[in-house]
Amino acid sequence: MKFVAFIESIIIAISCFFGSIFNLPDKNVQNLIEQNGGFIYGICHPNEDYDTLADAGLKWVRFDIPCPFDKNGNIRNDYLKFKERCKGYADHGFKVMAVTPYPRDIISDMGFNPVDDIERTKEIAVFLYNDLKDIAGGFQITNEMGLVGFMHPLTIEEAAFYIGSQLEAITEEKAKNNESFPIGYNSADLIQVSRELHKLMKPYLKYCDYVGIDLYTGNQGDAEPKDYAKKVKKLYRLTGKPIIIEEFGFWSAGGKKSAEEKAEILGIYGYSTETEAIADGENFINKLPWQFRNTLSLEHPDEKAQWAELVFSSYSNHFYGETSEKTINNIPHTPDGQAEYYKAVMTELKKLNCLAGMIIYCNQDMAACFACGHSWCPFETKWGICTIDGTPKPAYYAVKEVITGTK
Ligand SMILES: [Zn+2]
Repeated sequence: MKFVAFIESIIIAISCFFGSIFNLPDKNVQNLIEQNGGFIYGICHPNEDYDTLADAGLKWVRFDIPCPFDKNGNIRNDYLKFKERCKGYADHGFKVMAVTPYPRDIISDMGFNPVDDIERTKEIAVFLYNDLKDIAGGFQITNEMGLVGFMHPLTIEEAAFYIGSQLEAITEEKAKNNESFPIGYNSADLIQVSRELHKLMKPYLKYCDYVGIDLYTGNQGDAEPKDYAKKVKKLYRLTGKPIIIEEFGFWSAGGKKSAEEKAEILGIYGYSTETEAIADGENFINKLPWQFRNTLSLEHPDEKAQWAELVFSSYSNHFYGETSEKTINNIPHTPDGQAEYYKAVMTELKKLNCLAGMIIYCNQDMAACFACGHSWCPFETKWGICTIDGTPKPAYYAVKEVITGTK
């Protein structure tokens, strides 16, 4: 049996290698697309404006599943609200790509480390599957493991075990009734930690209907649309699985800040220079929004004395809301530039036979950056293809045109 499995894996590797080079059709990708009523076009963090979403040709939405139980094993209100939300989308013909809970949330909300009690973790995965399979469209088993902020406090080996065990448990449950419900995991781009994750996930790939990837190539840095295709093909060769882009996007605002603009931002905090702010130490840190302090304590817990300096080095971009001027095809971070990005990247990606879906990040802008709390920071505020109040931006119409062929 082991020999047969080995030969099978060699055949898959060879066919994916040539398949990626010559862009050959893959029956697993075609099946996944057919089973789900067409290519997966989706959007993250949607609002409840079902008509506007549907009008753009979007059929999937993606958001997180909160922990289902509290520390005493009772069902949590957050989870019940999530289910209601899922039902709302299902009733309007959408499928939900539901992201299962992060390890840190299981620890804080349910009171146990998910890898220390893997049987309990599997039971919860099976519970979520049975409870949601009729109102969700598929699962992404947690998100971007490998990145410290998301993986905390697991190691990458534990993260792979955490993901793989859930995939295995759900696959066994699906097999009981011969059900087809897409499950997979995803990674942050193909950076080193993600490549490590894919390596560790190899024994569990047999349980995956797809493998996901988040790509923000060229949001900051030189790139071309074909770089997206290159990364998707590389992941296909690495895993031999249909690929879904779980997140991709481009800010509608950004770029360099002038000296005057920077001085104005320092002035909001009551300083005229960075040196003055750093010298004020803890007092300065206490003036920052709580989100900024939260990020510092999560990412630099043992360097509290250096936090003020870090604000103007590692986090200077968040402090001032400044981004690199280099972008994909030199497209500017403007509402029209964002539209140009979606048109160019989605058109390129549509050609790929190994791709089963792409999910836009995200539906609407946010009032404040969740990493620094600043309203003027585009990093987590300007991803939306709609404004905060849900008004479509030029990017919305670009997305609609690529998906539906109509403006
Ligand atoms: Zn920020």
